[in-house]
Amino acid sequence: MTKTIYLDYAATTPVDPRVAETLTKYLTPDGIFGNPASRSHALGWQAEAAVEQARKQVAALIGCDAREVVWTSGATESDNLAIKGAAQAASQRGRHIITSRVEHKAVLDCFEWLETQGFEVTWLDPDHTGRVAPDTVADALREDTILVSLMAVNNELGVCNDIERVGAMLREKGVIFHVDAAQATGKMALDVSRMPVDLMALSAHKVYGPKGVGALYVRRSPDVVVAAQMHGGGHERGLRSGTLATHQIAAMGHAFALADAQLEDERAELERLRARFLDGLAELPGVHVHGHETQRVPGILNLGFEDIDGESLILALRGLAVSSGSACASATMEPSYVLRGIGLPESIAQGSLRFSFGRFTTAEEVDEAAGRVVEAVGRLRDHAAGRRATV
Ligand SMILES: *Cc1c(COP(=O)(O)O)cnc(C)c1O
Repeated sequence: MTKTIYLDYAATTPVDPRVAETLTKYLTPDGIFGNPASRSHALGWQAEAAVEQARKQVAALIGCDAREVVWTSGATESDNLAIKGAAQAASQRGRHIITSRVEHKAVLDCFEWLETQGFEVTWLDPDHTGRVAPDTVADALREDTILVSLMAVNNELGVCNDIERVGAMLREKGVIFHVDAAQATGKMALDVSRMPVDLMALSAHKVYGPKGVGALYVRRSPDVVVAAQMHGGGHERGLRSGTLATHQIAAMGHAFALADAQLEDERAELERLRARFLDGLAELPGVHVHGHETQRVPGILNLGFEDIDGESLILALRGLAVSSGSACASATMEPSYVLRGIGLPESIAQGSLRFSFGRFTTAEEVDEAAGRVVEAVGRLRDHAAGRRATV
């Protein structure tokens, strides 16, 4: 069996070996294993120092103050805390909330739940590239709108929303703006001092950190009020109780610092790999690149293959780790709601795959992957043509 070529970085990334080393420094008896909330001995203070250094590293990547970073178990929890917490806290002012149909399930499911709790949701449709036009947000605003949630980068398409414009408009109206930035960190410059957002969800495992840790940016001055969803102990300014996972947090900080330092180089390299992969597919007819030509991150490439069933293609591509739809939705084997959401006909949505590249992807892997795709798509089409000819 040949080695699997991993082209599913948008689902998760391996932990950078440098980060893995950090992870191990906070676990064992000879390490800094203390409880960061222990105030009476050095092991506690050292753990606290590690947590606070990581807080600064995460803050540096998004341009906020370290005091605005709240640790969570991942972007799913951050989305829950932001959306449910902000909606609950502002429910006296209004009960209308807005999001798009192509958000991550962590956002969609929170909005659906809030609908059962007496909130009214406007579900925005993206344009055919997957972007939500700022005007559609403006048109949906009402007197009683309290919260808007949009993703910075779509996890299936890689397209970027115009967070700055939407944010400026919402800031003027006093509407809280939450941004799911799990796919944006390390892939594009983020600066919340320039992007007027109030809440931002982050995850470590999309940025070469470990799974199970994330953060929520909660803007201060003026404070964004968020109702806690996890009670007990009052950690993290009372917003998220629970003993801090020092090893995970230190690792996330390290991963974000590396992402910050390498941002431009990685972007350029991923752009080269993307172009190289598309070059490798150039001889194949009937291939569509979904999403937006320029308003996108380089590492995520969603392709539609005419006259191909995506599941058959995935089977034919055994040895290539790619995805049809997002990892969370593909358990259901339904065609991707994101691809349907941008108005793709079922036949093309069915025959679409997401290829996502990352830090450890090599040019050789990209060439090999493109070759296998050309071969597999050609073979599947020949089979289908053969079947048609014999009936
Ligand atoms: C991966 C992802 C999430 C979920 O993050 P976890 O840390 O796995 O909970 C949320 N939103 C987007 C856009 C993602 O890509």
